[in-house]
Amino acid sequence: MYDLCIIGAGMIGSSAARHATLFSNNKVCLIGPSEPKERSKGNNRDIYGAYYDEARITRSCSSDVIWAKLAQKSIRRYKDIENKSGIKFYNEVGNIMAGAGSNSSFLKSVRSAAIQSNVETESFDAEMFRKTFPYLKVPDNVQAELETTNAGFINPRKLVEAEQTLASQQGCTLIDDVVHKVERIVCSDGTYAMKVVTDSGICINARKVLLATGAFTSFRQLVPYLKFDFQIIPTLVVLAEVDFSTDAMKQLRSMPCFIYEGPPHKDWKIMDYDKGRQETSLFMMPPVKYPDDKYYIKAGILDPFPVKLISKEEVKQWYDEGNKVMGEHLMEAVQSMFNGIQFKSWRFDTCCIMQTPTGHPYIDKVQDQLGIAIGGNGRAAKSCDEIARIAVSMMLYGWTSDLPQQAFTMRTIHMSKL
Ligand SMILES: Cc1cc2nc3c(=O)[nH]c(=O)nc-3n(C[C@H](O)[C@H](O)[C@H](O)COP(=O)(O)OP(=O)(O)OC[C@H]3O[C@@H](n4cnc5c(N)ncnc54)[C@H](O)[C@@H]3O)c2cc1C
Repeated sequence: MYDLCIIGAGMIGSSAARHATLFSNNKVCLIGPSEPKERSKGNNRDIYGAYYDEARITRSCSSDVIWAKLAQKSIRRYKDIENKSGIKFYNEVGNIMAGAGSNSSFLKSVRSAAIQSNVETESFDAEMFRKTFPYLKVPDNVQAELETTNAGFINPRKLVEAEQTLASQQGCTLIDDVVHKVERIVCSDGTYAMKVVTDSGICINARKVLLATGAFTSFRQLVPYLKFDFQIIPTLVVLAEVDFSTDAMKQLRSMPCFIYEGPPHKDWKIMDYDKGRQETSLFMMPPVKYPDDKYYIKAGILDPFPVKLISKEEVKQWYDEGNKVMGEHLMEAVQSMFNGIQFKSWRFDTCCIMQTPTGHPYIDKVQDQLGIAIGGNGRAAKSCDEIARIAVSMMLYGWTSDLPQQAFTMRTIHMSKL
């Protein structure tokens, strides 16, 4: 019998496996399917993950203090995890958060959260911004805050590998499978335990189970009697190839990560479904090397599509096929955000975000033996290690975070409303 079975070997689950095996003699297993070699219409795979990529922005600064603190606590441990696992995943290239005008509500909340959590930033006015980042086409009244330390990007695949490597060295059993069903059972001594059955028929008993199953939580019988309140948001990113052969391209070598929230520049070819909005939210990574040995700038517009995904068939289709028309529109939009840069080639990639109505992850217990750590809200890559630490502690010892527990309380939809 395991003391803790963690379901979902993605960013939070893999980090949870490391934390659960850190200090005590807990018998721990981590169950989840590894990244598929290919994504195509014809395969049987219907459970994916949100970490299949080479870069996710990490930053200490956030317009939300809870997220800022989760990130800061996680970032502090990156180097140690890298050193102990021998796997490098963190690139401290900095991050710039920009808005338009001195009244930008986005920048006001970024500045206020930075002050509250003692994060040092460098303020940029429009002239300084244009001088430093001449290749970015931004509104005339742009203003920004730059973080140079404890900010940049992480490689989510490598972070997962590093967390699993350490968990495994510390005694965690890793099982490459999808969990089909979780149920509570009564043991011969009258205590409760959990029975976990996988798609391939493996049956495991554990005193406690932690679900870290992200956007896929409702696609198997993990908690069939509860419907968690969240939405699955389809996301699309473009990868623009950089070849560094021209002087214009060489400037991109020193680019930090970039987040913009505000009215769009008049020349941006904003997509039809984004046109009605006053503000556009977008993010861009500096050139990052991908497994094909080419460098790409990855960019996306947050929550751009008026669609939400509901069934596992819809999510599978989104992962396997995406939407070519939307992809092409996004490529055009991203190209229009640059001055004097012509990208060598383009491709797009799809993924899903699990969005909760609280805007925070759910770190909570369904019952004493069953807990959840889900709800990344498109922000949890950078913060997965602290989310996982809080969740493991909640399951094994109690709440040990200085962040208020009610910020992470799960919301459910009453079954009669379905
Ligand atoms: C395009 C895109 C860009 C993003 N950019 C950023 C960024 O810049 N910065 C940032 O901080 N965050 C970013 N995010 C968000 C971040 O990637 C997610 O918040 C994070 O991956 C969530 O971690 P998770 O462990 O909850 O989910 P995942 O990493 O998706 O892991 C969940 C795991 O559970 C497994 N699973 C599901 N069901 C089962 C089952 N029945 N049995 C077994 N295993 C199961 C899945 O296979 C998966 O591996 C981005 C997300 C997307 C999609």
